[in-house]
Amino acid sequence: MADFDLVVIGSGPAGEWGAVQAALAGKRVVVVEREPVLGGTAANTGTLPSKTLRETALHLSGFKARGLYSVETTLRHEATVSDFLYRERRVKGMERERILRNLERNGVEVVLGTGTLKDEHTVLVRRRDGTERQLTGSFILLATGSTPYRPALYPFGDPRIHDSDEILELGRLPRSLVVVGAGVIGCEYACMFAALGIPVTLLDVKPEVLPFLDDEISALLGQRMEALGIRLRFGHPVAKVDIPKAPEACIRLTLESGEEVETDQVLVASGRNSNTSGLGLEALGVKFGKRGQVEVGPDFQTAVPHLYAVGDVIGFPALASTSMDQARIAVEHAFGLSGPRTMAPVLPYGIYTIPEVSMAGETEECLRDKGVPYVAGRAPFATNPRGQIIGETHGLLKLLFHRESLKLLGVHVLGEQASELVHIGLMAMLTGSTARLFVETCFNYPTLSEAYKTATFDALDTLKQTTG
Ligand code: FAD
Repeated sequence: MADFDLVVIGSGPAGEWGAVQAALAGKRVVVVEREPVLGGTAANTGTLPSKTLRETALHLSGFKARGLYSVETTLRHEATVSDFLYRERRVKGMERERILRNLERNGVEVVLGTGTLKDEHTVLVRRRDGTERQLTGSFILLATGSTPYRPALYPFGDPRIHDSDEILELGRLPRSLVVVGAGVIGCEYACMFAALGIPVTLLDVKPEVLPFLDDEISALLGQRMEALGIRLRFGHPVAKVDIPKAPEACIRLTLESGEEVETDQVLVASGRNSNTSGLGLEALGVKFGKRGQVEVGPDFQTAVPHLYAVGDVIGFPALASTSMDQARIAVEHAFGLSGPRTMAPVLPYGIYTIPEVSMAGETEECLRDKGVPYVAGRAPFATNPRGQIIGETHGLLKLLFHRESLKLLGVHVLGEQASELVHIGLMAMLTGSTARLFVETCFNYPTLSEAYKTATFDALDTLKQTTG
């Protein structure tokens, strides 16, 4: 008989919630974590630190006051990197503590050390002091996450070249910053540093900001990022990086177009690799995709039936939110529990740029490609009383309804509280609601949520005018 019903490797959101789900079902569970602290990328280097730094940047720069009082505020001169990182460290510490308590409360054992698979049911844990412990499990949940991809072009040993983990160990605030990669992480950090008044250039080979967004929202976000002072240089890869010896001299990046960009520091955000190397997965017959992503079936089972993989280690969508849910489904499936075994059919995406962007469901471009008849309704925050009160005048809520059934098919929000506001539309989509729901709902006034009603009336008005 195995020591445990479930051995979980990794204590990020996928590992934590997989472990707790199994423990709640009365299973004996152990979590193995190679770092001295729990929480993975979400708590320590990614989600929470970056979101906390965003709030700090908005606060230190007086950014929100700009929209309210038309005053130009700049970063307090005395603000140092430790001012910048102070709250990030507090939030991180509290989250690590919460995870430890959550695991303890549910009777989950934690073993610190690097786990490798010795055979199909045995995880060998090597602790930092060199001692080892073997753990056997009826099932194993692989939740080892991912690590920033480091293109060979950039000398990461230089203290002025950062990946998205190292940026949290900044020795000093950059005088200027080039961000390479306009994906979600690159765009978020570019906005954060620009809000602090630091000149930022954002480079990408792609021609637009976050192409998976609805085109209108992507274009608006690009405009707002430029208004924040970010120089967008799209369409040309970086060909050469020259690092001067003198620490005060500028780094020079030469683009394939021949354009040269000089900067004090560089943040490379070029995607992430799954943490699979050295785990012993190949010998067991586990299959891999691009960048080491573990291949799984719909229930998150790998090619080895009692070995499941969830979270960043399996790739897209690689979010803390989806990782937790994947772990729930994997545990339900492994132990034959009675809970639901599918991911929600519509997932929300929150992007913490400045302004924030969030979406759920279809974009206009997807609906057109699929030949689905639709009608769009818009509510600019500039005409929303709450938007006026809080100085959020560039925001937009855009709803996409089926032209005949009036079912909500997509919701897109740009502006303050976007990642919260999107949930109203998400719930409407998950319950198959139509425009009628927003017409009949009484919203608090004045609120940004009320923009749902305005956008719905706008869609109904467009429908009336275009159907004669
Ligand atoms: P991780 O959180 O990476 O945890 C994996 C754990 O496994 C780590 O603790 C690691 O040390 C451990 N581990 C690895 N190998 C071993 C081994 N051999 N033995 C023992 N332990 C091991 N997601 C959102 O939903 N919203 C956001 O706003 C958001 N913002 C982000 C911002 C940034 C800058 C980054 C980098 C990511 C962001 N994400 C966000 C993504 C989110 O952080 C990840 O999707 C999430 O952390 C994945 O969870 P996970 O449990 O799969 O992996």
